[in-house]
Amino acid sequence: MKLIQRAAGAVVGSAVGDALGAPFEFGPQRAFSARFPAPGAGGEMCGGGGWDPGEATDDTQMAVLVAESLLERGRLDLPDIFARFQRWAASEPKDIGLQTEDVLTNGMPWDLAAAIHFQVNQRAAGNGSLMRAATSSVHFAAAGQEATMDAARRIAALTHGDRAAWEGTAIFHELIRATLEEVDPLAALPDILGLIHPGHRGRYAVVLSPDWHPEQATEFNGAVWPCLGSAVWALRTTTSFEDAIRAAIDLGGDTDTVAAVTGGLAGAYYGLDAIPVRWTQPLHVPLPGFDGRVLHLTDLLRLAHRLAGEP
Ligand SMILES: [Mg+2]
Repeated sequence: MKLIQRAAGAVVGSAVGDALGAPFEFGPQRAFSARFPAPGAGGEMCGGGGWDPGEATDDTQMAVLVAESLLERGRLDLPDIFARFQRWAASEPKDIGLQTEDVLTNGMPWDLAAAIHFQVNQRAAGNGSLMRAATSSVHFAAAGQEATMDAARRIAALTHGDRAAWEGTAIFHELIRATLEEVDPLAALPDILGLIHPGHRGRYAVVLSPDWHPEQATEFNGAVWPCLGSAVWALRTTTSFEDAIRAAIDLGGDTDTVAAVTGGLAGAYYGLDAIPVRWTQPLHVPLPGFDGRVLHLTDLLRLAHRLAGEP
């Protein structure tokens, strides 16, 4: 499969998962398949809970902000990404994670805000840095394993002071890099775990092991470990993009983010053409704080091409 198929699949797949999962956020298990029993039947991009059909949430909005910073600055400019996040957070987006909102609005400088928030609050690591990593994972894949994992950690640290969030985001980046290089991401997992900070390896080894099931999670899936574990589980236990997304949303809880992470992985794995057109057609990404801009599929595809360094 061509690289751009996988790169665009990751970017668009994550956005599609986000928009599909949003109306089911904090709902019960199996709510999605109760409403849409048959795969392929249509109507799944239904909106609800304050979301229009096809509307992507903070997960994709922040991923776009990271992408545009990388492309406009031509390098990883952490203060610039942080400033874009702050501008977005100040415009009252419909959805924003609790940790993320605190860090972006507490008036601290970019290199201290998340660390100090973590020192004070000591909260469990949320999935808020993992959820927005599809664009950066595509961009840094060509730079190699060490560079992409390092970039993941540094972008995560802008809003998350807990190293657990950095390591989970680094695993996601490396899973995408492997997939773009035609390596089976599931087969690569044992090696990837070896690249994780030793103090965090054990917990990720549990949730990423082939016999782990999301029902064994010890935290709500708004935490980074079960969120990543659930996304990998959804990829491992299904055989199509559509079924992976359905499995992710059917877990309930933080459905937009679990499906966004799943969609990033499954989009890269199966490629853009495996994502149903009836899901990409209504997809749109409002950017609060950025002059009323709304991105559509063509805009996301253009971003994906540039992130992947393709004409
Ligand atoms: Mg969201």
